[in-house]
Amino acid sequence: MPKAVIALGSNMGDRAAALDAARAAIAALPGTRVLRASVRYDTAPVEVPEQFAEQRFLNSALLIETALAPYDLLAALQAIETRAGRVRSIRNAPRPIDLDIILYEGVTSDDPALTLPHPRALRRAFVLLPLADLGITPSHIRANVIPG
Ligand code: ATP
Ligand code: CA
Ligand code: CA
Repeated sequence: MPKAVIALGSNMGDRAAALDAARAAIAALPGTRVLRASVRYDTAPVEVPEQFAEQRFLNSALLIETALAPYDLLAALQAIETRAGRVRSIRNAPRPIDLDIILYEGVTSDDPALTLPHPRALRRAFVLLPLADLGITPSHIRANVIPG
């Protein structure tokens, strides 16, 4: 079964509870298993508008294996975001949960609706830190490889 790496972030409400609920929801997706989970990191917001600059994030990452094809996985993650109360407002507004696919084994894509590997992962410490817990380094991202 293909493996994938998901980055989780929350900067609204009970952030730890939001990460835990998202992890449980991901583990419950059809044909999906969580292989490894990072610890949670409290991080300063980057790339967010000035008025939200004080709302810190909690970030984590999951290594999963999944029978869901990439776009089906994306749709499933977006449904989890919506169920968690996320509303689409201005870009980078505070959100209870953000779920990004960082890597999907064997798949590269430059579709704006699903870009793989995630194009901004390499420059974001809040992504690289939890990925390191999973044994995934910047060179893995560059090579589009999930080790192990
Ligand atoms: P960023 O992508 O810079 O982290 P964001 O996560 O705040 O920003 P969103 O508003 O959550 O951005 O998503 C915008 C769009 O990004 C989504 O509608 C989705 O189709 C698209 N997208 C492209 N590539 C990916 C990916 N690898 N994982 C998740 N969404 C992606
Ligand atoms: Ca994101
Ligand atoms: Ca996102």
